Amino acid sequence: MAYDFDLFVIGAGSGGVRAARFAAGFGAKVAVAESRYLGGTCVNVGCVPKKLLVYGAHFGDDFEQAEGYGWSLDKADFDWATLIANKNREIERLNGIYRNLLVNSGVELLEGHARLLDPHKVEINGQHYSAKHILLATGGWPQIPDIPGREHAINSNEAFFLKTLPKRVLVVGGGYIAVEFAGIFQGLGAETSLLYRGELFLRGFDGAVRQHLKDELTRRGLNLQFNADIARIDKQADGSLKATLKDGRELEADCVFYATGRRPMLDNLGLENTGVKLDERGFIEVDDQYQSAEPSILAIGDVIGRVQLTPVALAEGMAVARRLFKPEQYRLVDYQHIPTAVFSQPPIGTVGLTEEQAREAGHPVQIFESRFRPMKLTMTECQERTLMKLVVDARTDKVLGCHMVGPDAGEIVQGLAIALKAGATKQLFDETIGVHPTAAEEFVTLRTPVA
Ligand code: FAD
Ligand code: NDP
Repeated sequence: MAYDFDLFVIGAGSGGVRAARFAAGFGAKVAVAESRYLGGTCVNVGCVPKKLLVYGAHFGDDFEQAEGYGWSLDKADFDWATLIANKNREIERLNGIYRNLLVNSGVELLEGHARLLDPHKVEINGQHYSAKHILLATGGWPQIPDIPGREHAINSNEAFFLKTLPKRVLVVGGGYIAVEFAGIFQGLGAETSLLYRGELFLRGFDGAVRQHLKDELTRRGLNLQFNADIARIDKQADGSLKATLKDGRELEADCVFYATGRRPMLDNLGLENTGVKLDERGFIEVDDQYQSAEPSILAIGDVIGRVQLTPVALAEGMAVARRLFKPEQYRLVDYQHIPTAVFSQPPIGTVGLTEEQAREAGHPVQIFESRFRPMKLTMTECQERTLMKLVVDARTDKVLGCHMVGPDAGEIVQGLAIALKAGATKQLFDETIGVHPTAAEEFVTLRTPVA
């Protein structure tokens, strides 16, 4: 049967654009539908604008620390509206780049909401298109628990477009977004509290990393409240918000920001017209080739709920394009050793197993750790300390995990991820010559295991 397209991609985010471009490059006839913004979450309301705001928030520290180096600055002033306007301009520029990338690679771009009509047919703007393969790359959407007054809270999508910087912010959640935005709001001058329902935030990260970041954020004056959860939010006569916690305490704020995870974006997608199945968490169920329960439909990225990171969506998009249209180059995506950074202040960089995971997997574990004041800070008042940690298998000498909290942690861990993927041993780390004077060289000079 003749179809309009070989591949119809729904969602021009990280994964969808990658799959569409490469499939077209391999000679396939490809369309991509996008209902909201080119580049998806990462470019518009995720990684990119977030990192720009993190940079913005860091200048306060830089100005303070500059004094130790002889610079004197008059009182520094910050204007939220300028930061947001400049950020918006940069995102528009990137949207244009994404448009060109798609069009120049021969992909047909269809702007509008796409809905599945059957396993091979999609409706968009009243037009029907048929395709041999359909790829769902519709991403995710922030979710806020169903509490009274949730309509007064904002999520990350809205935070990027606030008209003014709130004076007092309550951030709810203990994952990536909560920790990153708490740092942004606080760094830009808002009185900021982070409320997390459990004992210690960043569940799943190495225990020493979580504790170290807790200590550093506390030192910076962030109001961290663990074992704390909001029961209801009320708007007060003066427009401010009152959050009543489950333990009865009341907190006042001008903004309550929820970062409590993301659901798959399946709204009005027409899945009921196909045999696509969802897993027990509500994400699209796929096999290791990203094949859904409906043979003609595949899914990748946040909508399958595996690892919600842009480079992972990119790798999955690439794998799908290769498997369908360039099978001789096809390789399974390797979900081991995915490096990741939390752009908190200071940031976290991590790759491989945490100490807890290594022990649970039965490795005889050796730990190497270093805590120090970064050289740049020694001439300043700032008492911030860096943590570096290696988790090693004592029997094989293999390095199982590298973890860091400190400036440039994400940049440093990217290189270490290659070493871990190559199966590097601790001896190889020891035999590697350091780059001096850097913080990164600590990773190759850790000699004595922690008792
Ligand atoms: P998306 O990028 O979400 O793209 C999905 C696209 O599909 C969207 O453009 C959407 O409009 C479109 N769409 C949905 N339904 C339809 C439909 N029916 N018809 C047409 N179009 C549709 N990851 C990192 O690696 N590093 C970071 O620093 C980082 N920071 C983040 C910060 C925040 C605040 C958030 C929210 C996420 C962050 N992420 C980060 C995660 C990263 O953004 C996602 O993992 C990534 O964007 C997922 O890509 P995707 O292709 O699966 O989906
Ligand atoms: P996460 O899943 O990382 O964290 C969600 C947090 O909210 C957890 O601390 C969770 O607690 C808590 N939570 C969940 N439900 C509730 C509830 N009902 N009430 C109170 N607390 C709740 O989600 P995020 O929203 O932070 O981010 C989504 C994903 O986006 C991340 O997992 C990550 O993959 C990606 N991302 C990546 C970034 C990066 O690479 N730097 C930056 C930002 C996002 P508990 O732990 O107890 O379950």
